[in-house]
Amino acid sequence: MPGLDCEVRVDCRAGGAFCAKCCRNAVVPLLREDYERLKAMLGDVEGYVEWVEGVPVLKRVNGACVFLEEATGRCRVYEDRPLACRLYPLVYSPGTWVHADPRCPRAASVTMDVVARCGSLVEKFPLLLKESWGLELGATRSQPAPLAASSASAGAIQRGSRRGR
Ligand code: SF4
Repeated sequence: MPGLDCEVRVDCRAGGAFCAKCCRNAVVPLLREDYERLKAMLGDVEGYVEWVEGVPVLKRVNGACVFLEEATGRCRVYEDRPLACRLYPLVYSPGTWVHADPRCPRAASVTMDVVARCGSLVEKFPLLLKESWGLELGATRSQPAPLAASSASAGAIQRGSRRGR
């Protein structure tokens, strides 16, 4: 993904498995690049994707991302995971700009160097999403950042990245 290659790496190991907190109860929006990459790898990507307000998001199974391997906390598409996943736990809000999501147990390990390197991409993620799918600005109720989030019903086109493994 030329120009979209920022990645935040945190140590997600927790006990004998991976934390995976950010992959549960999450809504992961896909840029067109994410969608095409997964489609090239999986073929029928529609089996893993649903459309919310004109944007494809990863399906969830019992609240967790369809690609989460529950027993281990591993991501089945780790090497090809979406940009939103790569940027998490960085999130953006107008009041605080880019910061590490305090809901991530490893938020404190994200350095200011990482924020400086990936922050502008986090900030413009919603715009990239809208450009990807030909949506007008303000056409969705999206949060202004990729963000590990709670519910699609809140109109959340949100979510973030993972993880150093
Ligand atoms: S890293 Fe992203 S794609 Fe992989 S399991 Fe977690 S939420 Fe899903």
